[in-house]
Amino acid sequence: MVTISDEVKTLLKDNGFQESDVLEIVNAAEASGDKLKAADGSVCIAKNVTDNLTSYAVYNDKEVVNCYAHQMKAGEPAGGWDAEQETPLESKYICNKCGETAMNMNVSMSFMGMSRVGPAIVCQKCKDVYVEPEMVKTLAVAESILGEKRA
Ligand SMILES: [Zn+2]
Repeated sequence: MVTISDEVKTLLKDNGFQESDVLEIVNAAEASGDKLKAADGSVCIAKNVTDNLTSYAVYNDKEVVNCYAHQMKAGEPAGGWDAEQETPLESKYICNKCGETAMNMNVSMSFMGMSRVGPAIVCQKCKDVYVEPEMVKTLAVAESILGEKRA
């Protein structure tokens, strides 16, 4: 049973997340096997997608070590799922569902009817897209800029 680290508890308060939401993401991923696994085995990344928010939990076999969310909806890779990518780079993650190495790719990110391209981790086989914690800050900035433009 995974618990939530003190550091993440503080994060949760700041982000308005509930501890139960985060544990639910982890439990659902453990039940379905639908998650990314770091190639070195250190952590897993699980996510939950709703209409207006994608939430993530990063966890090891003991505790949740990070959580984050973005409002932008991650879509398909630039050029489509089957397009040859010019420079697909292997990410440090493996798709747990199919065992393929996930790739660093640019995907379409849509928000409030607008869309742009942003970096993500993609399993081309499962057509699944994840955003790394390092990338979320960039998305948050884009969300606020697009939100202002719209307003
Ligand atoms: Zn996969």
